[in-house]
Amino acid sequence: MELREPLIFELSRAGRRAASQFPPPAGAAEVSAAAEVPVHLRRAQAAALPEVSELQVVRHFTRLSQLNFSIDTHFYPLGSCTMKYNPKACNAYAMLPEFLAQHPFAREPQGFLACLYELQEMLKAITGMQGVSLTPMAGAQGEFAGVAMIRAYHRARNDAARNEIIVPQAAHGTNPATAAMCGCIVKEVPCDAGGSIDMAALKSAVGPRTAAIMLTNPSTLGVFESKIVEVAQIVHAAGGLLYYDGANLNAILGKVRPGDMGFDVIHMNLHKTFATPHGGGGPGSGAVGVGSRLLPYLPIPIVGREGARYRWLTERDLPRSIGRLSGFMGNAGVNLRAYIYMRLLGREGMARVSEFASLNANYLLKRLQAAGYEAAYPGRRASHEFIITLKREATLYGVTAMDVAKRLLDHGFHAPTTYFPLLVPECLLIEPTETESKEELDRFCDAMVAIRREMEQTPEMLRSAPHALPVRRLDDVRAAKQLNLVWTRPRGDIGPDGGTAHREGEVALR
Ligand SMILES: *Cc1c(COP(=O)(O)O)cnc(C)c1O
Repeated sequence: MELREPLIFELSRAGRRAASQFPPPAGAAEVSAAAEVPVHLRRAQAAALPEVSELQVVRHFTRLSQLNFSIDTHFYPLGSCTMKYNPKACNAYAMLPEFLAQHPFAREPQGFLACLYELQEMLKAITGMQGVSLTPMAGAQGEFAGVAMIRAYHRARNDAARNEIIVPQAAHGTNPATAAMCGCIVKEVPCDAGGSIDMAALKSAVGPRTAAIMLTNPSTLGVFESKIVEVAQIVHAAGGLLYYDGANLNAILGKVRPGDMGFDVIHMNLHKTFATPHGGGGPGSGAVGVGSRLLPYLPIPIVGREGARYRWLTERDLPRSIGRLSGFMGNAGVNLRAYIYMRLLGREGMARVSEFASLNANYLLKRLQAAGYEAAYPGRRASHEFIITLKREATLYGVTAMDVAKRLLDHGFHAPTTYFPLLVPECLLIEPTETESKEELDRFCDAMVAIRREMEQTPEMLRSAPHALPVRRLDDVRAAKQLNLVWTRPRGDIGPDGGTAHREGEVALR
């Protein structure tokens, strides 16, 4: 018989209680939110919440947190996602009560605005851009803002026929999606065998309809576009602009600036590179930076400074702005963490980030190659990430990139990114990040060596992995499309509300 942990609902016993961890201070007025809810919208019966003790609650949530992989517990080499360790101090400072107490409509709190202003200035300095807006709340929204600015620029010059966006074959999926969302036509250009943009194809793709090219550099193939200056010349000469997808800046921080490469606009994922964890659907910040051509179009509000005073710049100051992207000014908490992180690192610290990001990636690549794994671009130095391809192993042993990824979970490692970029068959995109130690990288390599041995001797172990986790191999499509989290009380069980709630029309969890 399979032993299973009880669900929290099954632990419920009528009348069992836990004490509130944070009782209101003595003398504080009792606030009843319920009194503010119109009578016809109030519940007739109390919600059927489980009635459990404090210890049961603690065990429940602790156990749940351990069922998953996290950066605090596991190496997490998920390429293109930068799942690195974020110093707890950044979060602690951003959560200071003086910050938390600020309401978005507070009258321009000077300390808070000073931090955001300095963050704008630092982002300008590290990217080589002329202006920055912090309001986009995700990388994809930053891209949207960037392409909206590019369109506004061409329209203002009576050049509105420019509606083609060039993206290389290896682009992140959000790039073509953004172009389409902004009403543009996507033109794909291929990469050559070394992973660089095919220059001949680029030359024939540009023309009088070119609005822009969207590039990630280093690309999602994990290599630096060494002809970037020539690419910029070709696109600019054709009348187009250059968009830099700066979701991952940890390969270039403090070393090279998109503005110097010739880019006109960039978005940065502050939630990947700058101390907010990425993933799990948490808050993000996709700050955008622009060169002189696009300065008038930046999304508002922006923090401006007049003498010693900081204030919000709005449509009055920037009448040609593309407008607002969020309820107010974006995710202030994420922006604050980025500010604190950059202040903690300083200039030298930021350069060390990129040095270790690329050292770790190149070390891991070399060790995996020595263990028999095939690099997708063996002639190229890795940036902060690299790709191995298992196409040979797929034919030799009948195992796939997915099988290796699943088996890694059994060894206690989160899987690398699989099957992206689409252009490399059976690929794993591996990003160790700058925060891992050599010992941890070695442990990962040892696991990959062990998996390689299994591939040759007992490939079935890979095909049926994972073996050591609470759930085995899932049907990915069903898990995503038919995820069922509804719990139904079994018939006859008398709960706190008499056992009548949540019965009809619901699907049981198991
Ligand atoms: C993560 C990522 C994005 C999208 O960022 P979101 O915040 O997830 O919208 C865009 N481009 C690249 C290269 C990325 O890695």
